[in-house]
Amino acid sequence: MKITFIMPSIGKKPGDLSYVKTWQMEPLQIAILSALTPSDINREFYDDRLENINYETQTDLVAITVETYTARRSYEIAYQFRKKNVKVVMGGFHATLVPEEVRQYCDILFVGEAEGLWEKLIIDLKNNELKSEYINHSPLSLANIFPDRTIFSGKRYQKLGLIETGRGCTFNCDFCSIQKFYKRTYRYRPLEDVVTELKSLPYKYYFFVDDNIVANIVHAKKLFTALIPLKIKWFTQGSINMADDPELLDLMKRSGCLGVLIGFESLNDKTLSSMNKGINLKHDREKSILKIQAAGIKIYGTFVFGHENDQEKDFDKTFRFVLKHKFFIAAFNHLVPFPGTEMYERFKRNGSLINEKYWLDHNYCFGDVSYRPQNFSAETLSRLCFLYRKKFYSTASIFTRFFNRTNFQHFSHPFFYLLISILSRRDAKKRQGLPMGTGQAYE
Ligand code: SF4
Repeated sequence: MKITFIMPSIGKKPGDLSYVKTWQMEPLQIAILSALTPSDINREFYDDRLENINYETQTDLVAITVETYTARRSYEIAYQFRKKNVKVVMGGFHATLVPEEVRQYCDILFVGEAEGLWEKLIIDLKNNELKSEYINHSPLSLANIFPDRTIFSGKRYQKLGLIETGRGCTFNCDFCSIQKFYKRTYRYRPLEDVVTELKSLPYKYYFFVDDNIVANIVHAKKLFTALIPLKIKWFTQGSINMADDPELLDLMKRSGCLGVLIGFESLNDKTLSSMNKGINLKHDREKSILKIQAAGIKIYGTFVFGHENDQEKDFDKTFRFVLKHKFFIAAFNHLVPFPGTEMYERFKRNGSLINEKYWLDHNYCFGDVSYRPQNFSAETLSRLCFLYRKKFYSTASIFTRFFNRTNFQHFSHPFFYLLISILSRRDAKKRQGLPMGTGQAYE
């Protein structure tokens, strides 16, 4: 018996089969599914981002993980297998947040987290009793989850270990699908499991994929203390309140933290307030940045534009802000109303969405704006985001931000900064205009 796992791409530009390098990372969710699958079942894995899928493969079940931006491509892939009478199961964020759509394109809908339910699906598969849907109402503890990375063998991923130490976030940002998926909860893995997994891996650099690594400060301190003896280097994402606690920052740094992604979202307090990003409103961002950088931690700041209070001049103000603070990386993104979020429902109610199912439209591309912003056109918002991304990675900007104390903690850091800047500049152009799907039939 065999299961074929598939990680879909967003889509492909005609004639360009190469992929965005900074996205070329091991898909941890596939390794977790593989680990939950008993060893008497054969497994194979196609990463549509890197290789062609063999639709002729002899398999008993195809499992596709679906996100909003990969939904159309997922349906195209499923269509090819289902034509050959191969059953397809779909799970992931999009399957959980938009189940009524996803069930139309698969044989088995899988809602929620995999652990505890995937095993039941496998038993049903063996008994030829697969049901049309599996819904995980009560997620399990995160103990004893050790991803099976042998499923990645032979694939060329970035040499960066992806590790999960916890899931979810307790904040309530109205654009965020993470808090919807996890219902504003945060759970963490036992420390000994994280340490055991790290000890078994060969990487020098790690990315902790947690949605907010400081969601529980007491636990975060224990985690960072446990990491110190491992002498690893790592990046992660977390909320700005980490700056409040000097002991936390010290432990982060001593445990090998090189940098952290922080969602600043906006410099406009009205915008922060209406998107429900209260945690950022409560913090003086300038002082917080200084504290984090003084601890020797680089900042990857993300910003979103296109809210009802946003004006064109906010782009320039934000650009000057990130240059002043010499951010390692900054993202200039437009709002994306992900289905299942409060923001999507509000935009739908007030008629702002240009296309309610923009993710299924092959003419909708990465970088396009899917709603009508109030103070500029959708095209202007898309153009300005792309323009400021290019400005951020211009030679002048890279040179200005180079002279940040966090780039000079070790002789390798200046080279690392330049490498990431050049790669990110190339990828910013490569991502823009990537269509949803490949244009093939999916129904
Ligand atoms: S802080 Fe980040 S992860 Fe948490 S709800 Fe807001 S956007 Fe989502």
